[in-house]
This record gives sequence, C-alpha cells and structure tokens, in this order.
Amino acid sequence: MAFEGLAERLQGTLKKIRGKGKVSEQDVKEMMREVRLALLEADVNFKVVKKFVADVKERAVGQEVMDSLTPGQQVIKVVNEELTKLMGGEQSKIATANKPPTVVMMVGLQGAGKTTTTGKLAHHLRKKHNRKPLMVAADIYRPAAIKQLETLGKQLDMPVFSLGDQVSPVEIAKQAIEKAKEEHHDYVLIDTAGRLHVDENLMSELDEIKEVTKPDEILLVIDAMTGQDAVNVAENFNERLGITGVVMTKLDGDTRGGAAISVKAVTGMPIKFAGMGEKTDALEPFHPERMASRILGMGDVLSLIEKAQTNVDEAKAKELERKMRNNDLTFDDFLDQLAQVKEMGPLDELLQMMPGAGKMKGLKNIQVDDKQIVHIEAIVKSMTKAEREEPALLNASRRRRIAKGSGRSIQEVNRLIKQFDEMKKMMKQMTGMTKGKKKGGFKM
Ligand code: GDP
Repeated sequence: MAFEGLAERLQGTLKKIRGKGKVSEQDVKEMMREVRLALLEADVNFKVVKKFVADVKERAVGQEVMDSLTPGQQVIKVVNEELTKLMGGEQSKIATANKPPTVVMMVGLQGAGKTTTTGKLAHHLRKKHNRKPLMVAADIYRPAAIKQLETLGKQLDMPVFSLGDQVSPVEIAKQAIEKAKEEHHDYVLIDTAGRLHVDENLMSELDEIKEVTKPDEILLVIDAMTGQDAVNVAENFNERLGITGVVMTKLDGDTRGGAAISVKAVTGMPIKFAGMGEKTDALEPFHPERMASRILGMGDVLSLIEKAQTNVDEAKAKELERKMRNNDLTFDDFLDQLAQVKEMGPLDELLQMMPGAGKMKGLKNIQVDDKQIVHIEAIVKSMTKAEREEPALLNASRRRRIAKGSGRSIQEVNRLIKQFDEMKKMMKQMTGMTKGKKKGGFKM
C-alpha cells in the first residue's frame, strides 16, 4: 500500500496530541521532531521537510490553534492542510484545448511506465470524460514499444497511430495530429521515446516534437519507487523541456511515498495522475487533500472539524465555558447549543463521520432522533424570559402552562427540567474538580 510506513508513523505521533485540551510549544516541538523523522524516513526531500516543519510549527503555536477549544485537533488540521498544500493544494486537472484535438506529450525515462500510462490515460479519458483519444506510437528506439502500444490499443479497442520505426518521431507526431483532425479525435496522446538517463539527444528530440506539435500538456511519467531520483528527473525535464504536470506511477508499490510528497514542492509542477497498478484501469486523478487525509488516517473527521468550525461560534463557546464555571447556565444557552448542533446537519450523518463509528457496537442501536431536538426547542421557547434565566421559578402551574404552550406532555417538560438540573449539577462538580488548576484546564 502507498505511504504505509509514513502513515503508520505519522498517525502514531498525531495520536498523542489529538485529545489534548491544551497544547504547549514544547508539545508542538516534540511532535514536529517525530514528524520530521517520519518524513525523512519516507524519503521526502530534506529541504521540503525543513520548510514543512517550519510552516507547521509556526501555525501550530499561533493564535488559530491556541485560542481554539480543541487545540490538539487543530494542530492535526494544520498538519493536514500543510501536507495538502505541499502536494499541490487543489486537484490539478488534465488540460483541454479550446480547439480540439488536445495534444498531450507523454515523456519520461525508460521503464517509468510511459507506454502503460498512455494506454491507461486513453482509457480514463474515454471512460470518465467520454472522449475519443488517439494514441500515437512515437517511441521508435525501444524495440518493443510500438508493439506494446498496439497491443494495448487492441486490448482497449482504441486506435493507435503508428508509422513503424523508420520514420522520425517528429514526422509521426505531425501526421498523427492531421489524422486526429480528420477523424475527429479530441485527444492525441503521443508516447515519446525514453532513455535510461536524461541525455541531450533525447531532450533535443523532445524539444523538436514540442516545437512542431505545440502540445497543450506535457506529462512527465515518473516511477514513485525510485524516490528522490524521480524528483531529480522531474527537475531536469522541467528545466530543459518544460513540463505541465506529472504522472506518478507505481504508487501501489511505494510504501514510502517521498517522491509523491516532494515533487510539487521541488519542481513546482503538480501531480495530475497516480498509477496504482499494472492494469489499464489503475490510473487515478491525484487529489492532494484526499491523499493527505489518507496518509493521516483521518477519514472524514476533517469535514467534521470543518463543519464545527463554520458552525460553532468560538466567542460564544468561550462565554458558555465561563457560564458553566460560574454555574449560571440558562435555558437560553441550552437553546443556543441546540441551534448550533442542528446547523451542523442531521445527527445520524454527523455520527457517520466519526472514525471507527461503524465498528462501535453500541452505536448501531442508538436511534438518533432529530425530532427530539424540535420538541426540546418547543418546550424551552414556551418558557418566559425570567423562567429561562431562573429555572428555580418553574413550579407546577408554570410547568402545566409550558406543556400546554409547547404541545408536549407534562412528563416531558418535567424530564427536560430534571435533565437540565442534573447537567448543571454535574458541571458544578466538574468545575469544582478542576478549580485551582491552571487556567484553560477545563475540558468540554
Ligand atoms: P516505459 O518504458 O516508460 O514505457 O514503461 P512501461 O510502460 O513499459 O512500464 C514498465 C513496467 O512498469 C511495466 O511492467 C508496467 O506494467 C509497470 N507499471 C507501469 N505503471 C505501473 C503502476 O502504476 N503500478 C505498477 N505496479 N506497475 C506499473
């Protein structure tokens, strides 16, 4: 599995900080020391690691984390965001020319998976985007390359343009584009020659093809298993030829992942696709944010944190904390809380976002009823302002009036008031326990 080693180490490190209600600079420092080692061990470029660690540290000891109610989780969110940014941020899609056909040059060293990827990409474009690509066999030096592409074409039932190995690649490319126009292909995928190493002959031939075909996209195919060598190759190709994106192959076999994490930061060029196997359908568009979540083993917790962040007003939450300490919680605060939870969406859905929720036995039997919230709201709203602020006023006749006004039974009203009292008592005990401890030691 891709990133296996890194994922395990990072997840182990982050687990220690996740639940913390307070995160000190020392905590962040220790965590980042482990993160740094994990990244270096995964063969991430050391300059990239250095910058990453500095960026995360700066944010992790900054206001956004320290002022939040869940600093441990916020730190992890920062790591995730920076990791996503490192890999390119937004997903980078394959180009589409204004006027078809879109010309894509596939370049790379021998054995990286260029020919295989050309077939995979053709398949992807047809299957996912309803396109009609033409593959072009322009690698006339590797004896089996033309045959290999033709075989792939047959297998996929897609056309391959070839003029054998006695015509120059530039000529092949030129004629292929003419043919694509005639036959209304909207993509032309040119499988160019590779070499064992980056050399001048190869580069000048690729340059010539580039001059003649004016490609919309030059995709460099690199092998993830070769780690930092792949990153160096990318740097060379980009400097000499100029590329527009990277296809990272053999990510399925790469347990370290260093190349995938470094290449964008080093070259500035995004990974557009990842090869995840030898089969023709084993090509995935590369999503930095999903990859980062996968590495950090976060499931959908991120969306959950995001939802909470957009819906929970931090200032209000702080005020609530203060009230709980002083034991002045009112029914109005209670309503506020309910409204915020409701904003986040159906409770069932929220529960599903929790990692491992499916595995928790008891959880399956819990029926989360959103109607319950509506009923509670109705009851609280039937109270007068004075009653909400001073629940002790709620004698039997007031309770009867509230039941009538809210359309709920008197038992239900009693139950809610009892629950509220118990909640207050419990909070008093909790704040009592933490009194005398450092400020901010109270956990919600
Ligand atoms: P080229 O010389 O760059 O054209 O390389 P090929 O397309 O011939 O691929 C070289 C080898 O890598 C072949 O055995 C492919 O099956 C294999 N390969 C290519 N992409 C992937 C991938 O994403 N995952 C795995 N596991 N193997 C791949």
